[in-house]
Amino acid sequence: MARRSLTATLALAFAGTTVLVFVVVSSVLYYALDRQVKQQDDLDIVLIARHARRLAQEFGTLEELRGHSDRLTGQVLGNSALSMEVRDAQRNVLFQHNAAGIADPATPSPALTNPLGASHRITQSDIGEWHAAQGAPVRGLATYAVLRDGTLVAVIVARNMTDRWRLLDWYRDRLYAACFAGMLLAFMLSWMLLRESLRPLRVMAHSAATITVDRLDTRIEVDNAPSELITLVVSLNAMLNRLDGGFQRMSQYTADLAHDMRTPLGNLRGSTEVALSRPRSADEYQSVLASNLEECDRMSRMIENVLFLARAEHPQFVRTLTEVDAARELKRIADYFEGVADDAGVQIRVAGGGELHADVELFRRAVNNLLANAIRYTPQGGAITLSAQTPAAAADTLRVTVANEGGQIDPSLLERVFDRFYRVDPSRKNEPNSTGTTGLGLAIVRTIMELHGGSAHAESDTTSTRFILTFAKRQERRSAPGAISEEEKIARNIGTSYR
Ligand code: ATP
Ligand code: MG
Repeated sequence: MARRSLTATLALAFAGTTVLVFVVVSSVLYYALDRQVKQQDDLDIVLIARHARRLAQEFGTLEELRGHSDRLTGQVLGNSALSMEVRDAQRNVLFQHNAAGIADPATPSPALTNPLGASHRITQSDIGEWHAAQGAPVRGLATYAVLRDGTLVAVIVARNMTDRWRLLDWYRDRLYAACFAGMLLAFMLSWMLLRESLRPLRVMAHSAATITVDRLDTRIEVDNAPSELITLVVSLNAMLNRLDGGFQRMSQYTADLAHDMRTPLGNLRGSTEVALSRPRSADEYQSVLASNLEECDRMSRMIENVLFLARAEHPQFVRTLTEVDAARELKRIADYFEGVADDAGVQIRVAGGGELHADVELFRRAVNNLLANAIRYTPQGGAITLSAQTPAAAADTLRVTVANEGGQIDPSLLERVFDRFYRVDPSRKNEPNSTGTTGLGLAIVRTIMELHGGSAHAESDTTSTRFILTFAKRQERRSAPGAISEEEKIARNIGTSYR
């Protein structure tokens, strides 16, 4: 289907409007001229008729009237369009001037068949219009006159309107031509103006066409854009900013993912090569296989975590929101981690409580990730506190805090730790306590909080570090109650990174 052209549509609309205005103005002018012409001619007819009747009534007999016919017909001399006819009571023509065929019996006019009374005051409203024998348009009237001896005669005064109608036709044709020319001119001018006005759009389209994946930092120029398009240009540039940011994050993510996959793969390959370099005892093979299994675990956890993040970003990700008793859940998690905490020589305490509206599996996963970190970074003999409380300033939220004693996270890194694959000290990832970490734990926590319309942030000082999750106590339900999605099943099956 051919695309509609904005320029053509608007130019046609302007041309149409011009025609409409022309038609209205021309009609008014035409009818004004028509009226003006008729009024002037009608006045002549009335005056001549009045005068002729008065003259006729001064004569005593028909013979006397006939003898002085030129006195009556003299009224219409000098204007070839005017004509006069005088008839007796039997409708026989007594005399006439220029009036052949004016009273055509084939087209009888009321103005002729019913002459005005002899004492009737003749006005313009008495004038009628008819066609003469040759078809010429005629305006005129007939009036009776009573001679002094009582004889009744009819005086007919008429004007041939052919010249007038011709003038009006000529005038109408000129108006049609002017109207058509005006329409063409309006169409062409508006077409040119619109094309020129839309030039900035073409420039924008051109600069947009030059933006490719390698040139996502290019922006559309705002300076030359007309005021109506500035909002569009600014929105497009903002969209490009977002795309650029997203694209860079994605590239970084892919690079980090490849980098982090390389380490366990390298370890697997290295240990296998060493094991194969010479014959070994069964115990040695067993130990290599066990270490390889650990690397495989780490890789599969990383893949599962990456998969979770990818799916959680999908708009269709389904959560099952329920009322969660925070104190009970925190206690449950603390119990679950008791063994690991004992091994690390740290103590877990649970404080506070409250109700929150959350997907319980995702809630557990977020707190598990935070507690796994806390256990890793708490010095031996230190304590971790899991707490839930409603802040006085925001009564409709519940803050779940995982606080641990231990070293401070640099304030400038408090936000970065939530980035994917980010570890404060990468060298630590190969420490015994850090084996199996993927650098995705906090990124998952933040994503889970976003899925709940809440937030996650960190605070740290020299004595302790606190990770705070802010949940809304009530939320709009996004999924059908009880519906368990693929993503949730995965979320439930994925282990946490505490190992
Ligand atoms: P994963 O959790 O995926 O196995 P990870 O624990 O290294 O790996 P995150 O949980 O995202 O990744 O944590 C990112 C970084 O934040 C950690 O590497 C660590 O440097 C820092 N961090 C997290 N929690 C604490 C904490 N409680 N105290 C000090 N530093 C922390
Ligand atoms: Mg972690």
